[in-house]
Amino acid sequence: MSREGALLVRAKQEKQELEDLAVFGGEPSLDDKLYVGRPNIGDRERLLERINDILDRRWLTNSGHYVQEFEQKIAEMAGTRHCIATCNGTVALELAIRALNMTGEVIVPSFTFIATAHALQWQEITPVFCDIDPRTHTLDPKQVERMITPRTTGIIAVHLWGRACNVDALEEIARSRGLTLMFDAAHAFGCTYRGRKIGSFGRAEVFSFHATKFFNTFEGGAITTNDDDLAAKLRLMKNFGFAGYDKVIYIGTNGKMSEVSAAMGLTSLESIDEFIGVNRGNHAQYGEELGGLRGVRLIPYDPDEQCNYQYLVLEIDEEETQISRDDLVQLLWAENVLARRYFYPGCHRMEPYRSYYPHAGLMLPVTERVAARVMLLPTGTAIGHADIRTICQILRFAVTHGADVTQMLRSSRPPGMVTR
Ligand SMILES: *Cc1c(COP(=O)(O)O)cnc(C)c1O
Repeated sequence: MSREGALLVRAKQEKQELEDLAVFGGEPSLDDKLYVGRPNIGDRERLLERINDILDRRWLTNSGHYVQEFEQKIAEMAGTRHCIATCNGTVALELAIRALNMTGEVIVPSFTFIATAHALQWQEITPVFCDIDPRTHTLDPKQVERMITPRTTGIIAVHLWGRACNVDALEEIARSRGLTLMFDAAHAFGCTYRGRKIGSFGRAEVFSFHATKFFNTFEGGAITTNDDDLAAKLRLMKNFGFAGYDKVIYIGTNGKMSEVSAAMGLTSLESIDEFIGVNRGNHAQYGEELGGLRGVRLIPYDPDEQCNYQYLVLEIDEEETQISRDDLVQLLWAENVLARRYFYPGCHRMEPYRSYYPHAGLMLPVTERVAARVMLLPTGTAIGHADIRTICQILRFAVTHGADVTQMLRSSRPPGMVTR
C-alpha cells in the first residue's frame, strides 16, 4: 500500500493524533452526515396501502376515516377521553391556549423550542420566562411562584426531553393561585409521570408529531384532554368554527390533520415499540462508551417510568473537559456528526423577546448555564451501533486531549473569526 493510502486508512480509523481530527484537516470519520432527529419510518408497504385506500376513498382531509382512527388510538395510548389531531404541534398549542382563555401573562420556561413562546406571543399574550431546575431541565416550581403577577392567567410547562415536569407541584401552584395549567408534551409521547401516561395532566396536553420527533405524521400534532367541553370547543376551533353545513358558531382557524398524515401516524404507531427499543439501546450504548469520561454527563431517563428515549442529551462541563461545548460541536460537525445545541440560547435571547425583555436573563441563571452546556447527539433508527462507537471515540479523543485541541483551534483560527 502506498504511503498516502496507509495514511488515509489510519485517519479513517480511530484518531491517534490531533491532526487526524477533520477540524484540523484529517479525514472525516463518517462518509455520510449523521443528523439529530432523522425521521423514524415504519412499514413502507402498510403506509402505501393506506395511502392507496385514501385515494380510492377520495377523502383527503376534514376528519376522514384515518384521522378518526388515529385520534381514537392516540386517546387510548394517552389514557384520555379526547384527542384532537391537528396539522402540527404549534397550532395545537395556539388552539389550546385560546380555548383555555389564557390572556395577559403566561409563565413558560425559556429553555424550550421557540414554538412554546411564539404560540402565546402570536395571540398577544406575554410569555413570562421562568427558570428551570438544573437537574431536570424543566420548570422549577419555586421559581414559578416568584414569576406570578396580577396579570398571570396560566402556566405552560414543558416535559423537556420526554422527562415529565414536577407535575404535582405545578398542579398545586395552579390550584392555589387560580391559574390554568397546560403542558407542552411535544417530546413526551409514550412517557409516564408516576406511572400514569402523559396526556391527561393539567387542563390539556399538546403533542407534536413533526418529522423530527421519534414518532411522526410528517407534520402533525394533537391535544389530549379529559374535559368534554374543552374538547368540543377545540373541535370547532380547528375547523373554522363549523358546527354543520353552512353553520359557523365560533371563531376558528384551519388546524386540521390530513388523511395522509394520519395514515403515516397509524403506520408509525405499529412500529413505536421498535423505535423506543432502538432509542433505549442507543442510549445504553452511549452511556457505556462515554462512561467515566470526565466532564461529559449523559442525561439519564428514570428507569421507573416509561420513556421514549428520543433525545441523547449530553452536558459538557468545560472546566473538566478543557474544551467548550461549542468547540466540541464544531469538531463533531467536521467529522460529519451534526450535533445540535438544543435549546440554545434560550427563547429569551431570540427575537422578538430579546428586544422586548433585554434583561430577562437576570432571572434565568440556570437556563443560561444549562443552555451553554447541553449538546444533542444523533440517535433513532437512522444510525447504527458502529456509528455510535465512532461518535464516542471522537468525543473521547477530543476530551482526553481537551486542552491541546482548544489551543490548536484557537491558533488555527484567524483572529476575530466567529464560527457560528
Ligand atoms: C417540536 C416542538 C413544538 C412544535 O411542534 P411542531 O409540530 O413542530 O409545530 C413545540 N414545542 C416543543 C417543545 C417542541 O419540541
